[in-house]
Amino acid sequence: KESRAMMFQRQHMDPDDPSNNSNYCNQMMRRRLVTEGRCKLLNTFIHEPLVDVQAICLQGNVICKNGQPNCHKSSSRMKITDCRVKSNSKYPDCDYYTIHKERHIIVACEGNPYVPVHFHASV
Ligand code: ADP
Repeated sequence: KESRAMMFQRQHMDPDDPSNNSNYCNQMMRRRLVTEGRCKLLNTFIHEPLVDVQAICLQGNVICKNGQPNCHKSSSRMKITDCRVKSNSKYPDCDYYTIHKERHIIVACEGNPYVPVHFHASV
């Protein structure tokens, strides 16, 4: 069974550089099985080495929006791509805007080892 940590990697990790291809999100959201069952409204891919993303769990502790205490904000900005669904897209034909950013990111971490399990926000 896929662990929450593995699911985070599948849904959010892409250590390659941001792509120039405006179809990046349409391809990645499908390839990484993020669009199974519904068109997820917003999903973020992170273009940094896995170890650098895992290290966020040791960085600034912040309270999550749901009140849980296990959120962590990256000390540096990270290269990310936001995939935001177009309002006219109809499941199963999920159509996304591909939006590159460089932001601090907030992830929720869990377990031993304490690793990212949820992408919370970019700020
Ligand atoms: P994502 O939020 O990364 O797009 P999901 O919401 O499907 O993906 O999965 C997040 C997982 O992380 C869930 O299993 C959830 O229970 C877990 N989790 C742990 N801590 C938190 C938190 N503080 N906020 C939200 N989800 C959390």
